[in-house]
Amino acid sequence: MNNNRIYLSLSQESGFEQKYIQKALKTNWITSGGPNVDEFENVLESYFENENYIAASNSGTSAIHLALILLGVKAGDEVICQSMTFSASANPILYQNAYPIFVDSERDTWNICPKNLEIAIKDRIKKGKKPKAIIAVHLYGMPYKVDEVHAIADRYEIPIIEDSAEALGSSYKGKKCGSFGVFGVLSFNGNKIITTSSGGALITNSKEIKEKAIFFATQSKDIASHYQHSEIGYNYRMSNICAGIGLGQIKILEKNINLRRDNHLFYDNIFKHIKNVQLFDNLNDDFFSNYWLNTILLETKKEREGLRLAFEEANIESRPLWKPMHLQPVFKKYPYYGHKIAEELFEKGLCLPSGSNLTNKDKSRIKEVIVNFFKRNIKLKNEN
Ligand SMILES: *Cc1c(COP(=O)(O)O)cnc(C)c1O
Repeated sequence: MNNNRIYLSLSQESGFEQKYIQKALKTNWITSGGPNVDEFENVLESYFENENYIAASNSGTSAIHLALILLGVKAGDEVICQSMTFSASANPILYQNAYPIFVDSERDTWNICPKNLEIAIKDRIKKGKKPKAIIAVHLYGMPYKVDEVHAIADRYEIPIIEDSAEALGSSYKGKKCGSFGVFGVLSFNGNKIITTSSGGALITNSKEIKEKAIFFATQSKDIASHYQHSEIGYNYRMSNICAGIGLGQIKILEKNINLRRDNHLFYDNIFKHIKNVQLFDNLNDDFFSNYWLNTILLETKKEREGLRLAFEEANIESRPLWKPMHLQPVFKKYPYYGHKIAEELFEKGLCLPSGSNLTNKDKSRIKEVIVNFFKRNIKLKNEN
C-alpha cells in the first residue's frame, strides 16, 4: 500500500525538546525529578494563571492514584466514577482496594450524568456509606457539566477528582479544565494533545498538598540521614528527561489546540451534509473543547462498523468510543447507576483521526472514505 497509515492521534516533535534534553544529559540530571521537572511545573502553573499548584508525575494514572491517597481513600471506601471513560480513570480505585461505583453519561456532553450522580450518592448513603470521592472526566476534551456536577458534590460534601487527561486547553465558562476539582489530573501520554512520552500532573490549590504529593511520589522519605519511611511510598515522580520533552512541547500547546479545532471544522464541513450522523460538538458557548479527538455518532452499530472497516481498508485508523467501565469484565461486578446512554454511545460512536499533524492530503483521503461510504450506504438503503 502506498498510502501511509493515518492515526487517531500521534505525538509530534516541536523542535524545542532537544535543548532541554541535552541540558539534562550534560548536567547529569538523568534522574527522576530535577530542574526540568521544577521548571515544567512552573510553566504549567503559569498556564493555570498561578491559581493552582502542580506536581508532575510519571503518568496521569499515577496522578489519579495520588489524588485518591491524598483524599484518604482506603480499603472498602466507595468512589464514584464516570463509566464512559478510559480504564485509567477507574483502575486506581482498585489499587487502593476501594470500591468503584459507576455512573452513566448524559447526552449533551457524554460525561457524568448529574441526575444519575445524585441518585447514586443518595442510594449509597442509604445503603450505609457516603462515597469518599467522585471521579468526573472531560471526555475527548469536552467539559462535563461543571456547574451541575459540582453543585451536587458540594451539597453532599464529596470531593471531585477532575480527570482532565484529555482536556488540557479546554475550558468551561472561560475557566480552564483541571482547575475545578479538589484535584485535577493531566496526562502527557504519547497520544495526548502534548506529550512528555509518558507523564502526568496533579493539580491542587494548596502548596502543602503539592509537597505532600511529591513526598508520596518520591518514596515517602522522612527527613533523616538514612532512608526512613513512616508511610507507604510510590515511585511516581516525573523523570527529568521527560520534563525536558514537556518544556519543548508546551510551546506548541496553543498551536496544537488550534490545529485540533481546525480538524473539527474540517469534519463539521463534511458531516453537515450527511443526514443522521452527529458530530460531537460544544453544547453552547459555556463549553470550549480542545477537540482532542473528533467523534461521531452513527445510526446503528452496523453502520459504525461499516465506516470503521472502510477507513481500515484505506489504511486510516478509527476506533469505537471508550467501552464503558460497567461493561468491562474487570469491573462488571460493581454497582452501576444509569440507563443505556453510555452503552449506546459505545455501540454507535466512532473516534476519527484528529492529530495535530493531519496534512491536507490526509484530510482528502479521510474525506474520500466518508463521502464514498455514505454514497454507497444511501444507495444500499434505496435498493432494499
Ligand atoms: C490518558 C488518560 C488517562 C491516563 O493517563 P496516562 O498518562 O496514560 O496514565 C486517564 N484518564 C483518561 C480519561 C485518559 O484519557
